[in-house]
Amino acid sequence: MDGQTPKTSSSKKPNVAKSSIDVYAAQCDECKKWRVIHSEEEYEEIRSKISTEPFYCNKKSGVTCDDAADIEYSASRTWVIDKPDLPKTPEGFRRHLVARKDYSKLDTYYITPKGKRLRSRNEMAAFLKQNRKYEGLSASDFDFAPPKVMEDTVPEIFSKRGSDSVRKKIKMTKNEDKSADITGEEDFE
Ligand SMILES: [Zn+2]
Repeated sequence: MDGQTPKTSSSKKPNVAKSSIDVYAAQCDECKKWRVIHSEEEYEEIRSKISTEPFYCNKKSGVTCDDAADIEYSASRTWVIDKPDLPKTPEGFRRHLVARKDYSKLDTYYITPKGKRLRSRNEMAAFLKQNRKYEGLSASDFDFAPPKVMEDTVPEIFSKRGSDSVRKKIKMTKNEDKSADITGEEDFE
């Protein structure tokens, strides 16, 4: 994704529908190297059971622990870590994570098959109730817990609030780390 829209407005509105995530990665439980996961679906599949089925390099075809890491954890991009075992997004829906401009946190949205944006468990429950064709789904098939922003990878420019200089393109990497000790926060403002 390459949508760069530098803005100077101080609007609180998040950049609608556009996910801040541009790369997915999973960490090998054996050698601790990071492997890029090429599709969101594959990434979600790995994440959905990471506690019981750790990720290993050889889950990518032709790759072993002897190969160099695909990507290094560093401040060259901002990393966020998902909670382990989040449910796979039901077919037709999309899970979008949108970073606040100051990198303080991400907001989780689900986009319905018809493009409606839902931003809380209550909205999801109401939507499912109103739309009989999704009666096989329940609000618990969705999880709004945002990933944890890794502070040591947040650009320095954002570490000081109030410095309202040029905003840089957000480069986010969503990744997996089953050992991360994360508690989901669901407080939306
Ligand atoms: Zn490995």
